[in-house]
Amino acid sequence: MKNWISLLFALVLGATHAHARFQLLFLADHASPLTGVLCAADGSHGFVAIDPGATYTEYLREGETVEAHLLSDSHLHRLSGLIMQAMDAKRQNLYATAAAIETIRDHVFNWKVWPNFADEGLLPHLDAFHYVRMPLSRSLPVPRTALNIEAIQLPHPSGATTVALLVESQGDYLVYLGDVALSRENALDPLWERLTPLVNQHKVRAIVLDSPALSLAKGGALFGGNEAHTWMKELQQLARRVNQDALKGVPLVVTHVQGCTMTTVVGTHSPTLELEKQNQLGLQLLFPKRGDRLDL
Ligand SMILES: [Zn+2]
Repeated sequence: MKNWISLLFALVLGATHAHARFQLLFLADHASPLTGVLCAADGSHGFVAIDPGATYTEYLREGETVEAHLLSDSHLHRLSGLIMQAMDAKRQNLYATAAAIETIRDHVFNWKVWPNFADEGLLPHLDAFHYVRMPLSRSLPVPRTALNIEAIQLPHPSGATTVALLVESQGDYLVYLGDVALSRENALDPLWERLTPLVNQHKVRAIVLDSPALSLAKGGALFGGNEAHTWMKELQQLARRVNQDALKGVPLVVTHVQGCTMTTVVGTHSPTLELEKQNQLGLQLLFPKRGDRLDL
């Protein structure tokens, strides 16, 4: 599968971009709700860990380091890897919204659930993580990574908020989406507005959906995940804003497909097939597994 993905991606890159901008390493496992992607600029060994729900040190190659953590919200399936590996962290920035940081400070690193590995909250502070409250819709450089990051606020189910994360390397972008309440009308408008000029200029290298309930469950509680057809309907909204065919060939990287694995189709109803069937936009659908790497 790995070779297949690399080969496929080489074809995509060949058709659209001469050089990769990003190295991605996927942490999500199709059989579990855990999330996460590591991302580095091409040619750099300094990664950011985005929503590391699972541990990652076992996948890093010699010389590679995680220099910062970046969270779309404060739910446990996006934090578990960060919590479990906190003892290995050395003064890294932890980027999240102010609300997410307060939740982690008060309810995770509070010496009851876990030692306080951060630099705020109950004493003593172990200072492994430095909290950075992300301003919305403003680009921030991440030290030691050659990446800039930006957060766009979106609705999360249960009245909470989440952020879409834009990671920039040399003027090109990776777009990362976690849990989003797509049931709200025009939920993604702020993101589509931001992306429209970037898509038209072919600066979006990939859209990553790291949302753990792209599932077969009809009418079940999805907790922020969304079904395949819902995502495709939303992407149509973006397509209506951008130049004709501007989304064609853009990789849509789907990290979770509950109800099936990448090699096992469940009955005739597979979310992967469903996505492929509804892919009138000509997006390049990719379904990496835990431990897979992609250069894009
Ligand atoms: Zn969430």
